[in-house]
Amino acid sequence: MTGHTRFCSFRQRLLVRLTLLALVAMLLASIAQVFLITREQRQQQELLLHELTSIQVPLLQVALWDIEIGALQGQLERIAGLSTVAGVRLHSETGLDMQAGDVRPHDGNPESTLVIPSPTEHAQRLGELQIFFQHHRLVQRIIDSILHRVFELSLYTLLVFTILFRALHREVGRPLQLIADYVSRLKPQKHAPPLVLSRAARNWHDEIDLVSRGFETLHAGMRHYAEQHELAIEQLASERDSLDRRVEERTSELAYLNGYLKLISGSSLKLMHLHHAQYPQAMHQTLKMLGYYLHLDASALLDNHRLRVHWTLAEDPQWLERLEQRPAPTLQSGWSIEQLDDRSLLIHFISPQHSFGYAVRGRTTRDVAAERKELLQGAGQWLFSLLQHWDHVIGLEQARQELLEMSRTDPLTGLANRRHFEQHQTDELHRAQRMGYPISLLMLDVDFFKAFNDLYGHAEGDACLMKLAGLVNLRFKRTGEMAARLGGEEFAVLLPGMGPEAARQAADSLGMAIYDLHVPHAGSVWGRVTVSIGCASWTGQPVGNTEEIIDGLMRTADAALYEAKDAGRNQVVAARGTELSAVQ
Ligand code: GH3
Ligand code: MG
Ligand code: MG
Repeated sequence: MTGHTRFCSFRQRLLVRLTLLALVAMLLASIAQVFLITREQRQQQELLLHELTSIQVPLLQVALWDIEIGALQGQLERIAGLSTVAGVRLHSETGLDMQAGDVRPHDGNPESTLVIPSPTEHAQRLGELQIFFQHHRLVQRIIDSILHRVFELSLYTLLVFTILFRALHREVGRPLQLIADYVSRLKPQKHAPPLVLSRAARNWHDEIDLVSRGFETLHAGMRHYAEQHELAIEQLASERDSLDRRVEERTSELAYLNGYLKLISGSSLKLMHLHHAQYPQAMHQTLKMLGYYLHLDASALLDNHRLRVHWTLAEDPQWLERLEQRPAPTLQSGWSIEQLDDRSLLIHFISPQHSFGYAVRGRTTRDVAAERKELLQGAGQWLFSLLQHWDHVIGLEQARQELLEMSRTDPLTGLANRRHFEQHQTDELHRAQRMGYPISLLMLDVDFFKAFNDLYGHAEGDACLMKLAGLVNLRFKRTGEMAARLGGEEFAVLLPGMGPEAARQAADSLGMAIYDLHVPHAGSVWGRVTVSIGCASWTGQPVGNTEEIIDGLMRTADAALYEAKDAGRNQVVAARGTELSAVQ
């Protein structure tokens, strides 16, 4: 609105209107004045005419009747001297024409004419008196009167204007201007300045005060709104900041946990497939990684109060010693956490079969603070499961070893069985072939053993076999050497690195040793248990593949054994030369 129209103050508009009003008032006053003066003038003229009719006309009648010219003239002069009369003229029927004063009316006619009747006969006229009134005096009076009114009104108007304008300016114009300025600058802000009109103190109030109070209320409202707005923005900002911080914390927590889970799953996977012998090292490595991740400088796993694995950032035997020397805890079964010192915790698991402990020492007290205990206990639980897995691996390995042993061993004598012996033979022959050294085989059979059983019983026979086996086993302990029970009362000895001569000597020595054992055998010609031994050797001759060589060795030794039997028993027969029996 203000952008499209020119500014025109209401004072200015009021001035114009009041001026117009004053002019109209002056005009109306002037018209009224003219009307009143004219009416008054007319009344005066009528009064004068009435006076003239009643006083002057009879006098003139007499003077005219008597034709007293001097009296007539004097009479006329008196009438013309009256204030409103400009001049008079007397016309007699006899033709007398007299005048006094100014008798030159503008239109040539008298303004009023009085008839002078005959004293004798009233119907007869003696003459007439023409009266001319003073017009210029009337006009002058009207002008003076109007000027007087105009001056009066102007003065009054000026006075009223001055008072009104001053009052309007002070009471309305200036306050409104201040309010307008104030409103144009008003913004919804916390520290918005209040509206100051600087009005004098009064015991009454007016519309401006109402407007001012309205703005005070508005100002207070806006201030309140701005405060609320600012508060809301501050709250929003702080909430946004705290949200950012929380998201950041949560993200880093999640990243930390993710790393932790990766570490755990990676380590679990690795440890799952390890050989039991690799466990100590792997568990140490696991404790170390966990230690770095959990910000520890020492940790140890205790199994039934004994130190099983440990890791320390720097050597600290005292801490470990103190752990080991701690008395067994008298805690209830299940998981618990014990504070060892301000930086160390012991996470326990007690069960009827187990007492497990995960001792940790933080780099600072914060690393083992209450809020970390859950995490540390979780790590303890995981390590406990690893330890259990490790024990299972050890148990499995032991069982496997036992089974292997069982599958390789002759149950009566504890010597290798035929299957194991054959496997070993193959391995040793490969090695002999690779290394280029000879290999020999002794095959021995107890003489007259059926008779032994018959004489002493089967149990005694078993005992005899065990005794012989023990002796054979004791004598052949060098690397690669192996004694086996091939079946019944038949044994074999593999001698890697021995040529025919050495094998022969070993066989002789063995036969002698058994003889010297002096196991009584009433069924034998020697009165004791004896053996017959056949020897065979491979000294590098190319007689076919490994299998064929082994087969040749077995057959040759077997043949030699039978030769020894045939030759009377209790003796050694070595295959001739280095020849092995051909495969049949
Ligand atoms: P030779 O001197 O010719 O070897 O005569 P021998 O009686 O020893 O041979 P033979 O093959 O006739 O008899 C072997 C005997 O060995 C038969 C069997 O009763 C006995 N024997 C085989 N295995 C066992 C065993 O595990 N325990 C016992 N006590 N005797 C066994
Ligand atoms: Mg036999
Ligand atoms: Mg026999």
